[in-house]
Amino acid sequence: MSESLAYRVGLGHDTHRLVAGRPLLLGGVRIEHPTGLDGHSDADVLLHAVTDALLGAAGLGDIGELFPDTDPQYQGADSARLLDETLARVRQVGWQLVNLDCTIHAQRPKLSTYKPAIKQRLSELLQIPADAVNVKAKTGERVGPVGREEAMCADAVVLIQRIADQ
Ligand code: MG
Repeated sequence: MSESLAYRVGLGHDTHRLVAGRPLLLGGVRIEHPTGLDGHSDADVLLHAVTDALLGAAGLGDIGELFPDTDPQYQGADSARLLDETLARVRQVGWQLVNLDCTIHAQRPKLSTYKPAIKQRLSELLQIPADAVNVKAKTGERVGPVGREEAMCADAVVLIQRIADQ
């Protein structure tokens, strides 16, 4: 029955701790900030959420299954490359991305000036028009791990469409 459905949605979420001495990357864009996100890969929390949303929509599991953080080949990995591999996997099973909506949760820095660059970069990485990408940013209202600047989080939702038979 599901084989006949033309569209599917997928949801992604990720969290990374903020630490000193790491670059801050959000959606493949370098952000000037005194702290960065810690992790096995480059810890781009937004690209990880987008990757999980794509995997979820296509029924391909999650980022930890495809790119285990115990695998040395992913030490310091460029999350854009992992996203690229994920897009290829999604296409292999017959789906293409329609649009992305996402939210970055960060107390600081103010991301409004970075949002256009992040949107543009996501559009390039995902190979969809910029108007099919929406980037939102929220603070943590100074409460919880985001508000205390201990972590950043990201949420993403995607719609995928079955690729028409050739
Ligand atoms: Mg992650």
